[in-house]
Amino acid sequence: MEKGAQLYEGKAKKVYATEYPELLIVSYKDDATAFNGVKRGTIAGKGVINNRMSNALMRLLEKQGIPTHYVQELSERDTLVKKVEIVPLEVIVRNISAGSFAKHYGVEEGIVFPEATIEFSYKNDALGDPLLNAYHVRALGLASADEIALIKQYAFQINEVLKSFWSSCGVTLVDFKLEFGRLPDGSIVLADEISPDTCRLWDSETGKKLDKDRFRRDMGGVEDAYREIMTRLEQKLGASE
Ligand code: C5P
Repeated sequence: MEKGAQLYEGKAKKVYATEYPELLIVSYKDDATAFNGVKRGTIAGKGVINNRMSNALMRLLEKQGIPTHYVQELSERDTLVKKVEIVPLEVIVRNISAGSFAKHYGVEEGIVFPEATIEFSYKNDALGDPLLNAYHVRALGLASADEIALIKQYAFQINEVLKSFWSSCGVTLVDFKLEFGRLPDGSIVLADEISPDTCRLWDSETGKKLDKDRFRRDMGGVEDAYREIMTRLEQKLGASE
């Protein structure tokens, strides 16, 4: 499958047309940004890791009945996906307090919640991705009530699958961000990526951060952390895939 015209360049990925109007190629870059683009840098090898990890996790989710945009891994950095109309929401699921939750509500990081939480923010860089509730989503015409219900159902199902998978790798899934899209028939599928850029992943024994927080917080060891989390995933999936 050949790359056609570049349709879009985001912070971490480029998107290309293909000869098929219903399919796109996503190409993962090593560029990293944080705090709505204020902090910029490069994480060597990140694009390869995020591409392969996201694809492996999407295949795992598909097996568990979650529809995704994933079609086929084409190369180290390139993946064929179904073209979707992105629902402009960042859907964030949290199992443990961290990041903006800890900051907004004045609590320390690491509090294990009695049940997972979910929140939406409006995917809009100019506005700084503001938080939204389900009424706001409908008021702005971003998604219907039925779509919101399905997105919530998928998000919590995805949390169960990923929590249990990462736990089997000795990793605690703290929180993560999902994006969903609409296929031409209107059905909702998981889109975007699932990677250390979009998840908080802590070593279950030591609490060591194995995700993009090392970049956001200038903790060092960013590349090593990405490599370590990928190795854990591959060791686990190597045995079962
Ligand atoms: O910063 P915050 O605590 O709200 O992030 C929650 C989760 O969502 C984290 O895992 C983070 O990596 C992810 N996230 C993301 N893209 C954003 C905002 C958050 O992937 N724009």
